[in-house]
Amino acid sequence: MKLNPYYDDLKQNYLFATIEEKVAAIKEAHPGKSLIYMGIGDVTLPLSDSVTAAIKAACDEMATPAGFHGYGPYRGYDFLLDAIRGYYKARGVELARDEIYVGDGAKTDTACFSDLFDRDNVVAVADPVYPVYFDSNVMDGRPITLLAATRENDFLPLPDESLRADVIYLCSPSNPTGAVYSKEQLKLWVDYANAHDALILFDAAYEAYITQDDKPHSIFEIEGARNCAVEFCSLSKNAGFTGTRASYVVIPNVLERGGKNLGKLWLRRQSTKFNGTPYIIQRGAAAVFSEEGQREVLSMVGYYQENARMLASAFTELGVYFTGGVNSPYLWFEAPNGETSWGFFDRLLNEVGVVSTPGAGFGVNGEGFLRLTAFNTHENTKEACERLKKMF
Ligand code: PLP
Repeated sequence: MKLNPYYDDLKQNYLFATIEEKVAAIKEAHPGKSLIYMGIGDVTLPLSDSVTAAIKAACDEMATPAGFHGYGPYRGYDFLLDAIRGYYKARGVELARDEIYVGDGAKTDTACFSDLFDRDNVVAVADPVYPVYFDSNVMDGRPITLLAATRENDFLPLPDESLRADVIYLCSPSNPTGAVYSKEQLKLWVDYANAHDALILFDAAYEAYITQDDKPHSIFEIEGARNCAVEFCSLSKNAGFTGTRASYVVIPNVLERGGKNLGKLWLRRQSTKFNGTPYIIQRGAAAVFSEEGQREVLSMVGYYQENARMLASAFTELGVYFTGGVNSPYLWFEAPNGETSWGFFDRLLNEVGVVSTPGAGFGVNGEGFLRLTAFNTHENTKEACERLKKMF
C-alpha cells in the first residue's frame, strides 16, 4: 500500500491549526488572559430570524410523513436554485437553473473542483491568497505558478505575456488582502483565459462586502466570462453559515474544455462523491435570498463593516500601512520596524492578547504583513484598537 506522496509536499500544518496551537499554549500558560480573536475568519453574529424560521419550519416538515425528505437532487433543490438565480438577476446576470450547483461550503467546492483536472496543468495562484487553492493542488501533485500580489500592484496580480497558466484561481475581494478587482482588470483575466484556453476559478465568497458600486460582485458581469470561468460563492460570510454550511458553484452551460462540458463533469463528480446539502439547510439558505433575508444580510454585513472602519481609522491614526476593510471584512497591515509576520503575531498575542493571522501563512509575499478580521463585537473591536495603539 502506498500513500499519496504529494502530501509530503504540504506544509506540516494548515495555517489556522498552527494559530490554534499557539493560542491554546498561551491559554494554558496564562489562564485568565483576556484574548480578542481576530485571527480565523469566522463570523460571530447569530443566524438571522428569517433563516432560523425557515430551518425550524423545515425541521417540522421533516417530522411528517408527507414532508419528509431523504436524499435530495445532486444539484440542489429547485427552490434554492431559483432563489440564487433571482439574486444574480438583480445584478444583471442571467443564469439558467441548471448552471447552479449547491454545495456545503466554498472550501469543499474550490478544493474538490480540481478533481476535474488532469495533473498536467499549470495552476496559477496569487501569493498571498486563501491557502486552500494552493494546498488542494499540491495534494494532486500539480505544478503551481505563483502570481505575486504585492504592495506595488495593489495586491491585484494581472496576466502578462510571460504567464503560462491553464487554471487560474482568482479571489475578489481577496482573502487575505481585501483587494478587489475592477471590471477592467477582470476583463484582462477573462481575455487571457479565452486566448489561452485556460480556466478561471473565481471565488466570490466576500462579494457581499463590496461597498464601491463600480466593483464587480460576479465574474459573469464581465463580457466573455461565460466561456472561461466558474464561480464559487458561499453563505458563510454574508449570512453567518460557517457552522451551518451552504454554498454554490456557477458553471455556464457553454463552458467546455477539450470538447467536454464542465457542468456535466462536475455533476458527474458530485453525484459520485457528494450526497447533497441537507434539505433543512437548503431551506435556510433560500431564506437568505428572500427580501427579508437580504435586509438581514445588509445589517449583518454592515455590523462587520463598522468594525472594519474602526480598525481602518486606528491604522490611519497610527500611520500604519494597510489595505482592505473597505470592500472586505479583512484588514491587511504591515508589521512595524520590519518585523516578521510570525514575530509580530507572537508579540500581539503575548503582549496585548490580540489574535491575528500572520501574512506569511498566506504566501511568501505576505511576509511582514498580518491580517485582522472584522468578525467580532463592536466592543471587542474598540478594545482591540486600543491594544493596537499600545503596540505601535
Ligand atoms: N473562500 C474564501 C476566499 C474563504 O476565505 C473562505 C473561508 O474563509 C472560504 C472560501 C470557505 O468558505 P466556506 O465556509 O463556504 O467553506
